[in-house]
Amino acid sequence: MQIIADVGGIPGKDCKGFCKYCYFRKVKEQDPLGCRYCTPGTVGCESCTTGVREVKNEFIHPFMVVGSVQNSLMMGDIKDKNLKVNISGGGDVSCYPHLMEVAGALNQFNLPMHLGYTSGKGIENSKMAEELISLGVDEVTFTVFSTDNKMRKEWVGDTTNGESLKALKLFCETTEVHAASVIVPGVNDGEKLYETCSTLEDWGAKAFILMRFANFRNQGLILGNEPILDGVTPHSLEEFETLVHEINNEFNFRVTGTPLCDPENDTPFAISKEKNSKYLDILTDVTSEATILTSSIAAPFIEKIIKRIGADDLVNVVAVDQDIGCLITQKDLEEVDLKDLKETVLIPGRALVHDKMAHDILSSDGIDRIVTRGPDKLSVDGEMSGTLSREDVLKTELIAFEDLLEAVNFFGVRKK
Ligand code: SF4
Repeated sequence: MQIIADVGGIPGKDCKGFCKYCYFRKVKEQDPLGCRYCTPGTVGCESCTTGVREVKNEFIHPFMVVGSVQNSLMMGDIKDKNLKVNISGGGDVSCYPHLMEVAGALNQFNLPMHLGYTSGKGIENSKMAEELISLGVDEVTFTVFSTDNKMRKEWVGDTTNGESLKALKLFCETTEVHAASVIVPGVNDGEKLYETCSTLEDWGAKAFILMRFANFRNQGLILGNEPILDGVTPHSLEEFETLVHEINNEFNFRVTGTPLCDPENDTPFAISKEKNSKYLDILTDVTSEATILTSSIAAPFIEKIIKRIGADDLVNVVAVDQDIGCLITQKDLEEVDLKDLKETVLIPGRALVHDKMAHDILSSDGIDRIVTRGPDKLSVDGEMSGTLSREDVLKTELIAFEDLLEAVNFFGVRKK
């Protein structure tokens, strides 16, 4: 278990300027998206305005950061032997001006530390890595983009003259490093990607997360900021999945992809795989009729599971033109063909739509539908999947799917 030591930070502002591929670049002020936290009569709250844009999450005073960890340790009945403190934030922890101070103070709890997210831009001297390791950092998540210093300078805005990469090498040699790269076609894929992977492998990185670059609204850029890079067409999901498998076959570290593909754990939706179908027997029988409205990536997997459990006569799955369920907005619902919907519709738990707006849009053909939310997540993403065992993944997915089916039975029109 990891206790989060949130240091705050605003993307772009608190990480020495925007990386060219950052999803928070070009974010515009817009009408509020709406979400489940909004009050019934108002579209828009802190969560779906400044929260989702991460524009107000300033760096937090070190005293508060350490205090919150201390509170979690004192209040929680924590018996986990693998307890760790995860120093993380909205920007980049290496740019947090009090990082050494916080790590020094946390060191007194005698717990190992994880640098939760860094691009290394704040590491002006690789000695910083040595000090952090000596204070107890034994795990680092490092967005490397490329191990070519020139490329990092141009794309990540790294002005450390190679110090950040020296630090990464040190971290790889001494700690558990999960390296990550947003893969921009024609920039850091192909030969460049192989060079990066082979360097990371030589240094001793434990894992590598490939993140598909997104450039369009239906790939998750819902904050008025598409395209991030003019003229760049991201990998298709099929191309990306092939790439993840290729890198996994070539290199000797744990490889995962996001938004999809963990070759080892079979996420997302490991339970949709034939070899895991026996586990579906433990799921509740479906007795009611409903529509599951979901993302374009999740829909085929969910449909497969529904068929496998023999519930496709009662439950249909409808995909909207949005890759990620948590990023479904009102606009996506407006494009749904209402003829495909049953009288009860379940949308993803974290969809960025106001409850009443979702109801009104999905009932605008005159059928007063029950529109409700399913579980927050039905599977685990690539970042998480790489840290979990196969059993944990199956357990997590089965629990979430059971919740979904119970919601179908509860809110749906009873047929059996
Ligand atoms: S370091 Fe991360 S949050 Fe900061 S600009 Fe780069 S991608 Fe965005």
